[in-house]
Amino acid sequence: MKALLLSAYKQLDIVDLPTPKPAEDELLIRIRACGICGSDVHGYDGSTGRRLPPIIMGHEAAGIIESVGSAVRNFRAGDRVTFDSTVYCGKCFYCLRGQINLCDSREVIGVSTPAFRRMGAFAEFVAVPARIAYPLPDNMPYPHAALIEAASVAVHAVSLTPIAPDDTVVVVGAGMIGLLVLQAARQAGAGRVFAVDLDDTRLELARSLGATGTFNSRNTDVAAQILAQTMGRGADAALECAGSTIPVKLALDSVRKGGTVTLIGNVAPTIELSLQSTVTRQIRLQGSCASSGEYPVCISMISRGAIQVEPLISAVAPVEDGASWFHRLYEREPGLLKVVLEP
Ligand SMILES: [Zn+2]
Ligand SMILES: [Zn+2]
Repeated sequence: MKALLLSAYKQLDIVDLPTPKPAEDELLIRIRACGICGSDVHGYDGSTGRRLPPIIMGHEAAGIIESVGSAVRNFRAGDRVTFDSTVYCGKCFYCLRGQINLCDSREVIGVSTPAFRRMGAFAEFVAVPARIAYPLPDNMPYPHAALIEAASVAVHAVSLTPIAPDDTVVVVGAGMIGLLVLQAARQAGAGRVFAVDLDDTRLELARSLGATGTFNSRNTDVAAQILAQTMGRGADAALECAGSTIPVKLALDSVRKGGTVTLIGNVAPTIELSLQSTVTRQIRLQGSCASSGEYPVCISMISRGAIQVEPLISAVAPVEDGASWFHRLYEREPGLLKVVLEP
């Protein structure tokens, strides 16, 4: 089969590899669309240590089942499916509690570390356990289905954040995840959702996707603006999707006493945190990692347009052009959000 292989750091090649053979509990999926994740771009140069070459990356994918292992009962060849990026064991303490994203033996499709190597979906075929697959509605195009994984990250984070009807929510960082978080927060009942970013184009997109108001933190005192909009109190919750000291501080400064800051962005390994302000204002800090069973909800929300993904897709391109798209994303070409490759 044809595959886009990370042969060495910053080197992607189209290669011919043997088609994987599905184990008895696995599906062999013919990939029709696979999104390039920020984590793939960060892994591509070796900086995260989670894409040890040689590896086929790609975990935001959808396709058609080619064949099923002998023990698979609930899927058949020809079914349209997507699958979770997380491969969980189903047996450990966390899996038994339904917290599959915290599985002690968690592996991720298209990721390789010293502990495991799971070939991903920038390829004609991938084999995945049937338990992580979900059927797709007929009306959902494959490139849209490739964004379910990212949507699940957003919906998971929102589900961990206390949001009551008419609450005011701040989303810090209006990139891919932030724009999905903003839509998920509206769906969760937030009365007003403010989006913050450094890029006016993204903020314009945020408004078109339902943000009540937007602030460019390059030229605005965002916390002061949020206080002014909330009778001096601050927002009920903030969801931080950037992942470094300044935006986390902004999120903390934007919430009211007793508010929640949910941390999704994960870039700087450590940050500086104003301890006193967090403790004395009784702020709840909530980490959020990947997703944990939100796929069916996201499939439904995207399918009925409650979460819009089309505006987040910058390009759909053949997998043969993958190396150049990775390069453009790596060089942070302005205006690019999700790039979806078609094997
Ligand atoms: Zn991802
Ligand atoms: Zn487990």
